[in-house]
Amino acid sequence: MVMTFLIELGLIISLRRRLTDLLHWLFKKTLKLPISKGPEDLRKEVLGQDFCSCCGGCIGICPYIKIVREKVIIVENCGLKEGKCYNLCPHTPTDTSRLERNIFGAINKDPILGRYVSIKQSRATNPAVQGPGQYGGTVTALICSALERGEINRALLTQGFNRRKADKDPLLPAARLVKNSKGVIECSGSKYTACPTLSILGEAVNNDKNIIGVVGRPCQVAALRKLQDIEPEVFCSRVPLVIGLFCMWALSYREFNKFLAARGRIPSIRKIDVPQEQFVIFTRGQPIRIPFEQIKELIRPSCELCSDFTSELADLSVGATEFDPEWNTLIIRSKRGQEIVDEAVDNGVIEIKELPPERVEILRRAAADKKKRVREAISKKGK
Ligand SMILES: Cc1cc2nc3c(=O)[nH]c(=O)nc-3n(C[C@H](O)[C@H](O)[C@H](O)COP(=O)(O)OP(=O)(O)OC[C@H]3O[C@@H](n4cnc5c(N)ncnc54)[C@H](O)[C@@H]3O)c2cc1C
Repeated sequence: MVMTFLIELGLIISLRRRLTDLLHWLFKKTLKLPISKGPEDLRKEVLGQDFCSCCGGCIGICPYIKIVREKVIIVENCGLKEGKCYNLCPHTPTDTSRLERNIFGAINKDPILGRYVSIKQSRATNPAVQGPGQYGGTVTALICSALERGEINRALLTQGFNRRKADKDPLLPAARLVKNSKGVIECSGSKYTACPTLSILGEAVNNDKNIIGVVGRPCQVAALRKLQDIEPEVFCSRVPLVIGLFCMWALSYREFNKFLAARGRIPSIRKIDVPQEQFVIFTRGQPIRIPFEQIKELIRPSCELCSDFTSELADLSVGATEFDPEWNTLIIRSKRGQEIVDEAVDNGVIEIKELPPERVEILRRAAADKKKRVREAISKKGK
């Protein structure tokens, strides 16, 4: 009896939602208002074309979208013509100027590096933070500091090969919502395969006590900013801090796993780094050095169409310096980002110094090259 009632109630709610969506769509069509697209378009334009960057955004807001070993699929048709899943995707049309206005206000735009206040060199001062960090441990230190000072009370991060749970499948990174410095440090280090980190964001914001800092690749930062624009009352107030990573590409997990399997058993992986023209896997034994030419084949196709190297829509962007592995390049972009850095410096959590101007030029060249490669790739594809 109760069961039947609940099923009927569910059906009524679902029918009402679909009817409202249909009326909404008809209203826009009649008035010739712009109609946005939905899951079927997402499937046609992104997922089915292998342009998905596995950011996890659509999975996080829709129960009908799932991921199977890094492949995002729509498991059931929800029947809606318009959907957030399409609108938040980093590979669907994006009104970047609007997003920039939301985040940065009047901060000037550099055509190559995006909007920023200053570019520094930075590193964590605590060896227990810097040690496990990818380079200077700036990201880990800033997130720990924001948690300790109550700026946020959760951080959405990406855990990888250093976690016991991931041992069976050591290269498959996973999203993790952490609440203290211990958890943040456990997520340190770069995992060079794509991870759907945003897939648990929807659930995380459902708890209205959560105030979350998010760390992600440029595509994830873009998806999150689009989501904040679509639903500001939820995603702006509950996600007040976004730290973006520099990212030229991410590997396909499936391809990388196959590639490694063909080389025989790899002992436990501690860290992966990509110094000039090499891909180095640090294990408990000897490091394994692979020429970058071989790894290139494993890059996700979506990365070839992403022109954002430095996470231009983040509050703070962090990358390598390329000349000193103990330091990071840190781009301070928003007022919020500036406050977080000032606090961390005042409390001795990170140290910063000027990035030499010639290094800023090298960074700018790398970012410009990525934009140029993408323009060429797009014109080759004729889209
Ligand atoms: C796929 C990928 C490609 C990159 N390419 C470049 C590059 O070309 N040039 C460059 O200068 N820097 C690149 N980086 C950034 C660089 O590797 C460091 O992450 C960055 O410099 C921060 O260093 P850190 O010492 O502060 O890191 P840490 O303090 O160790 O913090 C790293 C943070 O990154 C998060 N993270 C790790 N892996 C992922 C992932 N797959 N997706 C989302 N978040 C993740 C972790 O949750 C952690 O919070 C890349 C990172 C990734 C993940």
